[in-house]
Amino acid sequence: MDHRPFEDWLMDNQALTPDEKQQLNSHLRTCTSCTALADVNLALKSVRMAEPEAGFVDRFQVRLAARKQAMRRRNFWGFVVLTLSTLGLSGWIAWPVLKELFQSPVNLLASWMASLVSFWASLQAILRAGMVLFKVVPGFVPVYIWTVILFAAGGWSLVWIVSLMKITRRQGV
Ligand SMILES: [Zn+2]
Repeated sequence: MDHRPFEDWLMDNQALTPDEKQQLNSHLRTCTSCTALADVNLALKSVRMAEPEAGFVDRFQVRLAARKQAMRRRNFWGFVVLTLSTLGLSGWIAWPVLKELFQSPVNLLASWMASLVSFWASLQAILRAGMVLFKVVPGFVPVYIWTVILFAAGGWSLVWIVSLMKITRRQGV
């Protein structure tokens, strides 16, 4: 049996005219060796199709980099929100003391002077401020709410510190 043109057609993977296709098909029906060749050819073709197309790896890496960047941005904004709310909470807690100091500038000046004069005096001023805080706030805030606030502030600071550590570690990499 002459396989000549059919083998070439199968090997070269060339485009066939409808007439040639018909000839090939009728030959394949009678010839097992060319059918085997056609099967191998088909298998090879499907393997080639399964290979990642050019640029796939590049696109994947670009996508990965974009996702990483988005994650970093999300971490950054989470950190900003956390810092702002921590500052806000601290400000809210310290507000009675600040108000006291602003309402009596003489006292403020005196405590500043005192802190300049000696560390002990400034320490006393801080202690006095702390006493004002604990005298004023529990007056209108029930004790359990005060406890809840302190616990929340503690937990918040913990989260803040952990994310600070995370961010510094990520930037180190
Ligand atoms: Zn043949």
